[in-house]
Amino acid sequence: MSQTETFQALVTSEHDGQFQTRLQTRHFDALAAGHVRIQVHYSSLNYKDALSSQGNRGVTKNYPHTPGIDAAGVVSLSHAEQWAVGDPVIVTSYDLGMNTAGGLAEFIDVPADWVVALPDGLSLKSAMILGTSGLTAGLAFDKLQRCGLSPDQGPVIVTGASGGVGSLSVALLAQQGYEVWAVSGKPALYDWLKQLGASDCLGRDAVQAPPEKPLLRPRWAGAIDTVGGNILSSVVRACHKEGVVAVCGLVQSPELNLTVFPFILNGIHLVGVDSAQVKMAQRQKIWQRWATDWTVPDLGEHLETIPLAQVPEALAQMLAGQSRGKKLVQIGSDEV
Ligand code: NDP
Repeated sequence: MSQTETFQALVTSEHDGQFQTRLQTRHFDALAAGHVRIQVHYSSLNYKDALSSQGNRGVTKNYPHTPGIDAAGVVSLSHAEQWAVGDPVIVTSYDLGMNTAGGLAEFIDVPADWVVALPDGLSLKSAMILGTSGLTAGLAFDKLQRCGLSPDQGPVIVTGASGGVGSLSVALLAQQGYEVWAVSGKPALYDWLKQLGASDCLGRDAVQAPPEKPLLRPRWAGAIDTVGGNILSSVVRACHKEGVVAVCGLVQSPELNLTVFPFILNGIHLVGVDSAQVKMAQRQKIWQRWATDWTVPDLGEHLETIPLAQVPEALAQMLAGQSRGKKLVQIGSDEV
């Protein structure tokens, strides 16, 4: 595959303590042994990309840096025997876009063992409509199932429902036969959440309870939580007996104020989701499920496809809590 000497990438740089993200022309480094170079066709935006673009040192230590924890594309150069030029592939998380130059660029160089073959049944575009959000929603759903949560046990609540992980969780739970209650701070999006499959939508205040009460009136059988803080605490305290709660995120707070009572009196399962370092076999299993027994949801008008140049503005909206569904970033023109 012919390759130019330079490529376009978004680069976050620090100037006088302020961080700016701009499109720049970069030169290729030599590809290391055991690595592959991927021509990126699509990326998608995640909250972590927004944090990286703001100089969050918990995500990215050194700048200048290219954010982007998601990429789908085609191998253009391989120094690893398991990958050949032309292979369509997905790379999400590990260190991509954190301290390794990320997917908001025309090319990425990554270790071969971070790469997942694009499963039959998924296009590069559909893989990035899902992206890390879809992998995370899938991992969370898989954990609920493995903890024994079945549709007949009652409603499952999803917090941060209008966000990337939340909206895909709503859609996945609904298509798998669960009654879904979507929690969202955006009443204007309730109709859309219902189109995705939510049977009811609740405001954040309808879920949150004062932290003093160790247990609340049981209201749901389980949850996928993307926000943490008092909402997560309230969700756990209001679970039915043997309820299952999958914890993904922290947009409200990383704090979790709970007693042991939900666990020792109600047998609640609180399970964590880590899409970044999840084992390759589990990662492949979730991508395979999205390609076969699960359906990539139609996000309608809340799937927005943008070029690299519009990403800085979209990341700023994300940080302001104004996310609405998914932002797909189209970088290459070819579809696979
Ligand atoms: P988004 O920005 O797309 O969505 C977050 C949603 O949270 C918003 O749309 C909003 O939804 C809600 N929200 C925003 N601010 C607040 C607030 N102060 N209190 C309560 N809810 C709020 O983010 P993602 O879906 O990409 O990620 C969600 C979380 O999951 C992040 O913390 C992210 O870091 C984490 N994450 C974790 C992964 C893992 O492997 N564990 C992988 C991917 C993400 P609404 O208005 O509808 O309430």
